[in-house]
Amino acid sequence: MAKKQFKSESKRLLDLMINSIYTHKEIFLREIISNASDAIDKLCFLSLTDDKVGMSREDFKINLKADKDNRILTIEDNGIGMDRDDLENNLGTIASSGSYKFRNQLEEKDKENVDIIGQFGVGFYSAFMVADEINVITKKYGCDTAYCWKSSGADGYTIKECDKDSVGTQVILHIKPDAEGENYSEFLDQYRLQGLVKKYSDYIHYPIIMDMETQKPKEGTEDKENPEYETVYETTTLNSMTPIWQKNKKEVSQEDYNSFYKEKFFDYEDPLCTISTSVEGVVTYKALLFIPSKAPYDYYTKEFKKGLKLYSSGVLIMDNCEELLPEHFRFVRGVVDSQDFSLNISREVLQHDRQLKTIAKTLEKKIKNELASMLKKDREKYETFWGQFGRQIKYGIVSEYGLHKDLLQDLLLFYSSTEKKLVTLSEYVDRMKEEQKYIYFAAGESVDTIDKLPQTEILRDKGYEILYCSEDIDEFTLQGLGKYADKTFRSVANDDLGLEDDEKKEDENKEDNTAVLNFVKETLGDKVNEVAASKKLVSHPVCLTAKGGISFEMEKYFAQVQPDSGMKAQRVLELNLEHPAVKAMSDSIGSDDEKAKLYAELLYDQALIIAGLPIENPSDYADLVCKLMK
Ligand code: ADP
Repeated sequence: MAKKQFKSESKRLLDLMINSIYTHKEIFLREIISNASDAIDKLCFLSLTDDKVGMSREDFKINLKADKDNRILTIEDNGIGMDRDDLENNLGTIASSGSYKFRNQLEEKDKENVDIIGQFGVGFYSAFMVADEINVITKKYGCDTAYCWKSSGADGYTIKECDKDSVGTQVILHIKPDAEGENYSEFLDQYRLQGLVKKYSDYIHYPIIMDMETQKPKEGTEDKENPEYETVYETTTLNSMTPIWQKNKKEVSQEDYNSFYKEKFFDYEDPLCTISTSVEGVVTYKALLFIPSKAPYDYYTKEFKKGLKLYSSGVLIMDNCEELLPEHFRFVRGVVDSQDFSLNISREVLQHDRQLKTIAKTLEKKIKNELASMLKKDREKYETFWGQFGRQIKYGIVSEYGLHKDLLQDLLLFYSSTEKKLVTLSEYVDRMKEEQKYIYFAAGESVDTIDKLPQTEILRDKGYEILYCSEDIDEFTLQGLGKYADKTFRSVANDDLGLEDDEKKEDENKEDNTAVLNFVKETLGDKVNEVAASKKLVSHPVCLTAKGGISFEMEKYFAQVQPDSGMKAQRVLELNLEHPAVKAMSDSIGSDDEKAKLYAELLYDQALIIAGLPIENPSDYADLVCKLMK
């Protein structure tokens, strides 16, 4: 019988498929099994209204058979089957609209990395990645004749009548011989096949069965010390059929969720939080989400890939669908299952898919609410979460020009000077004093260093609470927020702390101090941008503050991540003119300028040390101290 040619587009795709160096060849099994499941769906549906089908739901199954000796893998279903026209139309053409795009992708250089085949639904043809010949023996429900479709790839196919008793389809794959770097025999190995079914098709709702070879003690020899073994075949159902997320919440224990999580997401620890949700409406879906107890070791690196597993009626269609999660919740793991997506959906289509966006939006809200409720009801647990992923939430505030700040601001925690523990912004605002204008924060390397910052003194004396920014991202976060509950954030380093008696003090100080301030500025030269009379120091003589938008902590951060950015804080040396040490200096001006200069340098170095900044030249500093001790 003359061979028929594939339609041209299909032919080119086939060529590529056959010669593909694609690394995820294993997905062919998922595709063939999904087709089988769809075919069963169709007949099963018919059986509801047509008594003649003579089958009930339990009778349907998909059978795998691996014949190692002849290198044949058969996938058989008792679904609807195909007649000559179906074979012609379905297996002679690649119907999927994604095929063209798929071909383009395959031709691109990045063949190895992307899981493209799965996303393009070119289904059946993917079997040519592992098989050099495919026979499809099939009999359609309601037909008397069975057909055999046969093809060895790009040169075409034949369709012949053949014998087959029952309705359904057998896809017979002649597995390619092993070649250098390519092990095709693995697709004949029962355990490998079992693993693939578990991985990709676990939740197909018909049993996928295989006769598995095992060794059992021979009958009558079990009790003996050295029992004799024989090879037996046990019919094994490879898939669990009901996805855990499809089950009623009440039927599933936390233990079940935990083991599902650990197995699916390769974690050793139980999840910190499990979120199960079911939505019906514009888009219908079920989702099962987890927040890990610990950030994976590569979490804050580029290696970490965010995303949820996307299923369509129990069939995995995308292992890591990034579009389902916003960046700020990228730590969430889980699955989404929606019958509203077809298996054929391509990645490009998905990216712009409205339904997907709707799901992503509702999931974002759900995750936020879950975290907010954890914060309210189980503070300890929330702090565990915060320790692992708090940084991510802070990034979320800063990113995309503050687009997400309303969503995220109530999830923030900062260490409080008065409470000596982590507090929320709303708790802070509730405790604010009546006359207090701003939400104050102080930045430093650790809680301990911030605790001792001289510039916080005046606020402490007033009993004002200060939030501590000890992580490099903290100040950026507060700057990004700008305001909370209509209260502006203000750094303790700011000149103007908005305290009522400040202005009075400033007026009193102004005139008589210009000479002292100028003297110090001249002595220090470019080391500081400004020397000022402090409004905030009480018992300390000096402190260094930063003017403008960049603080010292930000300067340190930039020095690490972008050394040539030139981002430097503008240094202001604040002097407490009432302090005896500063007085000692000002008294020497005029009478002993040399000594006054040494004092000024010393005070500046002290300010550097307290701010946690390096002294420019430690040995000069040591000399300076020695000179004064003489
Ligand atoms: P699709 O993405 O449409 O499943 P495939 O290339 O995988 O694309 O399959 C093409 C078509 O061939 C299917 O849509 C279906 O109509 C038919 N088909 C494939 N396998 C079977 C089967 N086991 N039983 C019945 N029909 C099948």
